[in-house]
Amino acid sequence: MAASSDKLSSYREKRDFARSGEPRGDTEASGGDALRFVVHKHDASTLHYDFRLEWDGVLLSWAVTKGPSPAPSEKRLAVRTEDHPLDYADFEGTIPEEEYGGGTVMVWESGTWEPRNDPAEGLDDGELKFTLHGQRMTGGWALIRMNGGDGDQENWLLIKERDDHAVEDPDALTQDHDTSVKSGRTMSQIAEADAD
Ligand code: MN
Repeated sequence: MAASSDKLSSYREKRDFARSGEPRGDTEASGGDALRFVVHKHDASTLHYDFRLEWDGVLLSWAVTKGPSPAPSEKRLAVRTEDHPLDYADFEGTIPEEEYGGGTVMVWESGTWEPRNDPAEGLDDGELKFTLHGQRMTGGWALIRMNGGDGDQENWLLIKERDDHAVEDPDALTQDHDTSVKSGRTMSQIAEADAD
């Protein structure tokens, strides 16, 4: 569909798909009723976690340097990045060093999400509230846009809401889970497999 193709122009401009191994996003995922979310652990020049929400035919994306925190008192910087194709949700592997985003990518988390406010309005207003049904991230969460930022960069905060799924240890999620929910592999196992 044209709408999501246009949204993916920035994604495509940054990449050489013949080399990177990442999906071009040419095929529209047929999609069930539930909206997917995925978190990629990405060992690029700086290790970070890419938090992605399916919305309107693409994956809205934020790079969370310190990863998601289950502690409501901990606000994690989430830099908005280009929309990704839906089939990126299943991408795991190693992007060659010299390519854009070069480094190992793990499917660290996946599941479904439910918006608790209108996502189109929330993107304009800078406040998304939602419930996650993941294997590691559950319950209420929010993304809040901050004022300012460098040029075109949109800085948001990813925040766990206070509910039964909150945990006070700010790094419990990233410390307790270091394998892929897709393959069970560690980052080094993914990297070694791709080096063959
Ligand atoms: Mn990334």
